[in-house]
Amino acid sequence: MPTIIEIDKRGDVLLQFAAGQAPTDDGTVSPPISLRVSSSVLSLVSPVFAAIFNSSMAEGVAFRAPDSPRPFPLPLPEDDLAAFAVFANVAHHRAEAIPQCPPPQILMDLAVLVDKYACGSSLMPYGVLWLQRGLSVPPGDTETSMLEGWCRMLLFAYVLDLPEQFAAVSWEILLHHRQDFQDEVRAGFDLPILREHELLRHDIHGEFQRRKSRLRREMMWALMRPIEEINRFITPNRHPPCQKAATTIGNYLFLLDKAGLSPWKSQYETDPFESIMHRARMVGNEEAGNEVYQFEFCNKRICSCSAVTTRPHLAKKLRELVEDAHRWKLWVCLDCTKTDWESYRLGNCRVEHWS
Ligand SMILES: [Zn+2]
Ligand SMILES: [Zn+2]
Repeated sequence: MPTIIEIDKRGDVLLQFAAGQAPTDDGTVSPPISLRVSSSVLSLVSPVFAAIFNSSMAEGVAFRAPDSPRPFPLPLPEDDLAAFAVFANVAHHRAEAIPQCPPPQILMDLAVLVDKYACGSSLMPYGVLWLQRGLSVPPGDTETSMLEGWCRMLLFAYVLDLPEQFAAVSWEILLHHRQDFQDEVRAGFDLPILREHELLRHDIHGEFQRRKSRLRREMMWALMRPIEEINRFITPNRHPPCQKAATTIGNYLFLLDKAGLSPWKSQYETDPFESIMHRARMVGNEEAGNEVYQFEFCNKRICSCSAVTTRPHLAKKLRELVEDAHRWKLWVCLDCTKTDWESYRLGNCRVEHWS
């Protein structure tokens, strides 16, 4: 017997999904499942369904015929039942049946439905909520499953046209995607989203690659910036170079090396940015009280350092710079992706970002 899920008890349409979408525990194929829904609700949220029920297409004519059965059976063999049920519950305002945080796979299946039935605006408020909630927990236990999860969420934000959530998800992807700089140079940048994905109509991969090279430079700058202020006091100029500055810089460079943070080591080019940032924050915290990273003026009467006005603590400075990474605004902009940067030139981007 086919199972009927009543989204609307008095619904005039029975959407029929392919049998066996959800095999039971003992391996038997489950009977076909139908969703009972209202044609007028679907027509309101989707111009495609409006056309199906009201047009001169075969289904429309059969649906409106005087002897047409109620509920009217409408087969949707290609659609995903679980995602369609979420969409139908949203469209019918059945808040109690709407999931709090659908898994990334459901979001991607929903994106396929949005693309097919042009029903994005009805899902938008929930879409924002789902992505906000989804971003607060990593969508997997392994690096691969996390990245796959975020990429599915990214596609969902892309199809629903949610610029802020798209930017936030893209930032997670940028931070967690393994760098493999050498491989990128050889084989190009790759995310776990097919370049020819049916839902993608813009060069998302190219946008990520561009951001990633920039992020690599920003990160290197954050690692080296702490020594910048005092570096000029160890170069010979009018006064003798400062030994204290040289020692503090040496200590800091040794610290970077010890913590696996040297930008000139291969690890810098292969670790995800998140690991580099995590180590930098850890080292910054652990060494914040260690005076060997605190630059002090020396007691020599004539020394280059007499021109210094600040006394930076290099490990603390590093921690500050890394914690500020959000200010780099290096996430991917949905509007720029979709308009080939025209929106940036016209100042129409809906999120602020690096140019
Ligand atoms: Zn000095
Ligand atoms: Zn933009």
